[in-house]
Amino acid sequence: MTESTGTIAIETIGVIGAGTMGNGIAQICAAAGLTVVMTDISEEAVARGLKTVGGSLDRLVKKEKMTAGARDEALARITATTDKAKLANCDLVIEAATENEGLKVKILKELCETLKPEALLATNTSSISITKLAAATDRPDRFIGMHFFNPVPMMALLELIRGLQTSDATLAAAEAFAKRVGKAPITAKNSPGFAVNRILCPMINEAIFALQEGLATAEDIDTGMKLGCNHPIGPLALADLIGLDTMLFVMNVFYEGFNDPKYRPAPLLKEMVDAGHLGRKTGKGFYDYSK
Ligand code: NAD
Repeated sequence: MTESTGTIAIETIGVIGAGTMGNGIAQICAAAGLTVVMTDISEEAVARGLKTVGGSLDRLVKKEKMTAGARDEALARITATTDKAKLANCDLVIEAATENEGLKVKILKELCETLKPEALLATNTSSISITKLAAATDRPDRFIGMHFFNPVPMMALLELIRGLQTSDATLAAAEAFAKRVGKAPITAKNSPGFAVNRILCPMINEAIFALQEGLATAEDIDTGMKLGCNHPIGPLALADLIGLDTMLFVMNVFYEGFNDPKYRPAPLLKEMVDAGHLGRKTGKGFYDYSK
């Protein structure tokens, strides 16, 4: 368990937050044979998270991608609880709670009081500085960003983000963990949007500028990117899926984080958010989902 060996045995995983991302992370870990402790703040949230895992594993059994026996074993490996003390013996804890810096700092500080000293810590944050969160812990060298993609069981990528303090041994352990749970890791430095969103979100923002300027219709912009660039979904349809409020939030993080006008959110994006047209979740975005 030392920096020089580079080998940190990871068998028991803690997941903080049983929401969209947390229950997906718990599922893939349990399906890979790891023991999982999944926590949330209320019994309802914990039960909902576990139910989602059960439903997702059932679908895999139905599609014959998993046996019923393997599903039952995976579920049995998950302890779902509101008791954070149960995280004390985890080898790696992945924080996947609500995206709020103050909340994450509080969770991490409290966790460090009980977590065994050699354990690794990770966060699934999309927008908060890994270096900053690492500095709030008692083990900044053992802290790393693990940016999973939604839906976690379906998406092949795990983006690993090194804070300034992250050690080589921690990165090596995170890469081994990624492969163990069936994900392909890439590594990025700590910077707004890391690697994937840094490229993806300005591309979507540019599509919104193009629409605003009347360069082409929404349908033609999306068809162009699908057929011309082999993207599985057009940028405007993807913006509707992500949520236009989330898109605006991310572009503002870039704009302020880099202090560079090239990241300014498209005025049409702001207008859509002001109108309450947030995409699929409100039934209207660049496309109409009301029917
Ligand atoms: P979510 O709202 O679905 O789930 C968050 C969960 O955290 C909730 O169940 C909430 O009750 C719980 N929580 C809040 N405070 C807590 C505490 N003190 N202790 C334990 N649990 C607590 O959110 P999500 O979409 O799963 O996002 C979680 C994290 O993953 C965020 O940091 C987000 O930026 C990141 N992320 C999200 C996506 C995505 O597409 N949803 C993709 C990549 C990364």
